[in-house]
Amino acid sequence: PLPPLTGGEDPPKIKVVVRKRPISRKERERGDDDMVEVSRGGAFVIVNETKVKVDLTKYMERHQFNFDEALDEFVTNDQVYRTTVQPLVATLFANGKATCFAYGQTGSGKTYTMSPLPIRAAADLLQYLAKPQWADVSLYVSCFEIYGNKVFDLLNGRKKLNILEDGKKQVCVVGLKEHIVDDVEVVKQLIEEASMRRSTGSTAANADSSRSHSIMQFTLKRYIAGGAHCRQVGKISFIDLAGSERGADTFDNNRQTRMEGAEINKSLLALKECIRALDSDARHVPFRGSKLTAVLRDSFIGDTARTVMIANISPTASCVEHTLNTLRYADRVK
Ligand code: ADP
Ligand code: MG
Repeated sequence: PLPPLTGGEDPPKIKVVVRKRPISRKERERGDDDMVEVSRGGAFVIVNETKVKVDLTKYMERHQFNFDEALDEFVTNDQVYRTTVQPLVATLFANGKATCFAYGQTGSGKTYTMSPLPIRAAADLLQYLAKPQWADVSLYVSCFEIYGNKVFDLLNGRKKLNILEDGKKQVCVVGLKEHIVDDVEVVKQLIEEASMRRSTGSTAANADSSRSHSIMQFTLKRYIAGGAHCRQVGKISFIDLAGSERGADTFDNNRQTRMEGAEINKSLLALKECIRALDSDARHVPFRGSKLTAVLRDSFIGDTARTVMIANISPTASCVEHTLNTLRYADRVK
């Protein structure tokens, strides 16, 4: 049963959740140890880092981080939905703008975590929309990726798009295709189509989507004047960010990879600053710092904006450095 749309608790402006993925069989077989402890009750994460002294003896350094929530390897995608996105669904019916990010190194579980969230959110949204009082409101789905500072429509043959800023400082992705949906199965198909179209870096050592940000957006629109116009009711964005380790590719031998790395680094830094500014009275928010933050501008502004950041981490010893980087980033967002 769906919770009522009003009278619930107002979600915090920013919520930071860490999710540890389970160690894989392959990792175990090569002797890579699980170095991450999660306390769900205490909402903290401990990372055990092996260090070597000058005399070559080894010792452990423990790093502890506290978050709004810490999810261990036993938590299901359904539980992730309930603690991250579901509390935001009601806000969309009250002119709310919500954003959910997955941040972390390649292989840490971003796509595994992020891809079911829009499907579950669509199911809830459509259940509300089926009620008579929302008969004039429809759900629209769009999806694009930012790859090397270029924008591509993932639901329209990977068409290259431009972004434009209008006089009111509203940024819009020109010509982005929006699909009206009234069926969860269609949302699933759209997500599949988008993930198939997502960029594969041809120069990458492992050809995958680790160098692009993918952004799926749901917009609720109300038809007015007999269907001639429509007005936005609420909006939620699901963002599977580029692998956080890619920001360090600025030293790569390949020029293209280097430029992409610089762009990723810039966008992740700008993102951190913009999220931080959400919670303060900061006058100057660096939205223009990157394409990513520019297109998310309207979702970050105003009293109705809500953000959830999911920091995905790998458990293994070989990933400890990246894991610490991810936790430090997530820590600074708050
Ligand atoms: P990323 O998108 O960050 O590169 P993926 O989501 O592709 O990482 O995850 C890497 C691998 O780990 C995939 O094979 C995925 O199925 C697996 N995985 C990630 N998180 C979990 C989890 N919580 N439970 C089980 N398997 C997971
Ligand atoms: Mg991925």
